[in-house]
Amino acid sequence: MKMQELPEKIIDKSPELSEIREKVLSNRRLTRQDGIDLYNSNDLLAIGTLADFARVNRLKNPAKKDYVYWINNHHLNLSNICEGKCKFCAYRRKEGQEEAFYYTLDKAVEYLETQVSKTAREIHIVSALNPSYDLEFYRQLLQQCRKILPDTHIQALTAVEIAYISKISGFDIKQTLQELKNAGLGSLPGGGAEIFAENVRQQVCPEKISGQRWLEVMEIAHNLGLKSNATMLTGIGETCYDKIDHMLAVRELQDKTGGFMTFIPLFCHYENTEIPDSNQPTGVDMLKDYAISRLMLDNIEHLKAFRIQTGIKLAQTSLSFGVNDIDGTVMEEKITRMAGSKDAYAVKKEEIEHFITKAGKVPVERDTVYNLV
Ligand code: SF4
Repeated sequence: MKMQELPEKIIDKSPELSEIREKVLSNRRLTRQDGIDLYNSNDLLAIGTLADFARVNRLKNPAKKDYVYWINNHHLNLSNICEGKCKFCAYRRKEGQEEAFYYTLDKAVEYLETQVSKTAREIHIVSALNPSYDLEFYRQLLQQCRKILPDTHIQALTAVEIAYISKISGFDIKQTLQELKNAGLGSLPGGGAEIFAENVRQQVCPEKISGQRWLEVMEIAHNLGLKSNATMLTGIGETCYDKIDHMLAVRELQDKTGGFMTFIPLFCHYENTEIPDSNQPTGVDMLKDYAISRLMLDNIEHLKAFRIQTGIKLAQTSLSFGVNDIDGTVMEEKITRMAGSKDAYAVKKEEIEHFITKAGKVPVERDTVYNLV
């Protein structure tokens, strides 16, 4: 899409967006107030059009303008026995409680040997704050994983898990990450960021590391050469100001390190949680989160719709709102399924490609770090 192809008549309906439109057209950075103005506007199509324009306009290679990425990946959740008490979490259990589960190292290794396809491009390992899983456990697990799946990228351990492993193992964050990297860790997922606003965290996850600490762990990881993703969880009592401030904090760190590959807006699922579903984001809220993330985060190349959370149909719609990645086949995910998502199931490559193609885009299989497969 060239600059003059931005359909002016759509924007003309909303004079409150005219200054933002000029900035987007000339690739200038949006301010906090711009972000708030975007959330306050009801012109969803204009916001989506701007976001899609920004997605294309920022590409270094225009040949990729219709690319939508997906990955052949396999999730492994090792345990749901967690010391955390996040109110939005349907996954955590106490030891001995019904549905509590726990993989020993031997069981995890057996799982990797027997259940994960050798053709998976990524094994995605996130679990819980479980005192049995210290640095030595993960060092051994990663080393075994490397041997069993030599061609599979290991994306594992949120910043929250890294901070916990560091605490229970007596190593600082840098030492912990370096040891894990030496053992085979390839990159970090973006989970655990939730929303950085301290007042919201105090309400829904007071024991979790602060947003500031999450950013510090990511900065150390990036400085060690580990790329990562970043997430933002909504529907837990945050305001649009909180969302913009969250994006700005991620943007600021990205200016320093360049280590974020992808930004992923996430939406709370309420079944089996302590958060009332009156907080539930609507379809318009979700599409705005995608589009405004794309517009504000001018220094992160990829924006993902996590289709096991949104459902593949909304993920498909988001492709006109700045999104260029709909995650992947996702074998064996438990965390979202336990919160009631009906979409947390594995899908075949053909199904993903069908939805992308029907949106007028080009499906492109990638590895974790966005090399084309
Ligand atoms: S969100 Fe993570 S840290 Fe919080 S209770 Fe659930 S598993 Fe534990």
